[in-house]
Amino acid sequence: MKAFAYVNAANEREALAALDAQRGRVLPLAGGMDLLGLMKNYVAQPERVVNIKSLDKAITVSPAGARIGAAASLIELIEHQALAKSYPALIQSADDVGTPQIRNAGTIGGNIMQRPRCWYFRNEEFHCLKKGGPRCFAVEGENQYHAIFGGGPCHIVHPSSLAVPLIAYGAKFRVVGANGEREIDAGEFFELPAENLMGETVLRPNELLTHVILPSASGVSAASYEVRYKQSHDWPLASATAALTMDGKTVKSARLVMGAVAPIPWRVPAAEQVLAGKTITEAVATEAANAAVAGATPMSQNAYKVQVARTAVKRAILRAAGIQTV
Ligand SMILES: Cc1cc2nc3c(=O)[nH]c(=O)nc-3n(C[C@H](O)[C@H](O)[C@H](O)COP(=O)(O)OP(=O)(O)OC[C@H]3O[C@@H](n4cnc5c(N)ncnc54)[C@H](O)[C@@H]3O)c2cc1C
Repeated sequence: MKAFAYVNAANEREALAALDAQRGRVLPLAGGMDLLGLMKNYVAQPERVVNIKSLDKAITVSPAGARIGAAASLIELIEHQALAKSYPALIQSADDVGTPQIRNAGTIGGNIMQRPRCWYFRNEEFHCLKKGGPRCFAVEGENQYHAIFGGGPCHIVHPSSLAVPLIAYGAKFRVVGANGEREIDAGEFFELPAENLMGETVLRPNELLTHVILPSASGVSAASYEVRYKQSHDWPLASATAALTMDGKTVKSARLVMGAVAPIPWRVPAAEQVLAGKTITEAVATEAANAAVAGATPMSQNAYKVQVARTAVKRAILRAAGIQTV
């Protein structure tokens, strides 16, 4: 690992003062579950690392919504009873993340900001597009876990399990930087490689994600469903969250987001429209799931992910409607 300076920020203000506008020169350290691996593999080579564990970690829930400090750990989120009651789809996604150790150490901010898992990006031997190299090795290489939507010129999939339900619930992210603070819709926070090849979000290098702000989920029935190769110690092959705003048994409006299938959490308006005005049955869920994957463009080795994603969407919808899935 390359030598680096270490700053132990006592608060948000000190953390901001230690950051830098140049990408990658200074990096915040939360739980370190992702950053330390990147540094050991020489993918991240910061000159300075800023410990941001002093950021707010409080979780508050009220009738108006919820506010989650970025330094809260995944386990603190999972064990928060009021949050679980109002936002079950978020807890279902958090519950499946990694292993108990990762859920204990990993933070909400770090989970959302974790870098992609593409094995070419993570391997120091491959100077891929995302690291300033000439090409995306996944195009002609091993691409069984890569994108089936929105890929090109780089074909990563977005890794955060939490981002998927957060977008489905209509969350906003509070971000602070040298020029003050702003709130960004979670659905507009993540950027495709075609828009931002070297990063994955609109967050600037001298800004911090400090809070997740959730609107009230009153009247919303939501659920997440993930399909995994291994039950633990791994990321999903595909996931989905369905958030249904109900009027009795009829869906007034729906938000459907898929995970692990595109470089960003992938919202599918065409499938949302299928659900609007309907009562959820297995046939309606199947129709929406078919619509969700209709535009998929699989690579040479990942066509199987189309069916996996279809299943995740269908089961998330049925689960949100309280219909038993296998
Ligand atoms: C075996 C394994 C399995 C896993 N499975 C899953 C899974 O199924 N689903 C899933 O979602 N994740 C999974 N993870 C990833 C894990 O959840 C994340 O690595 C972890 O949540 C990162 O949080 P952290 O606090 O440790 O972040 P860090 O490693 O400290 O930081 C991660 C990145 O975010 C930046 N950062 C951190 N906090 C902030 C902030 N507040 N503002 C701006 N930038 C920030 C850091 O600079 C760094 O680049 C898995 C990890 C492992 C090792």
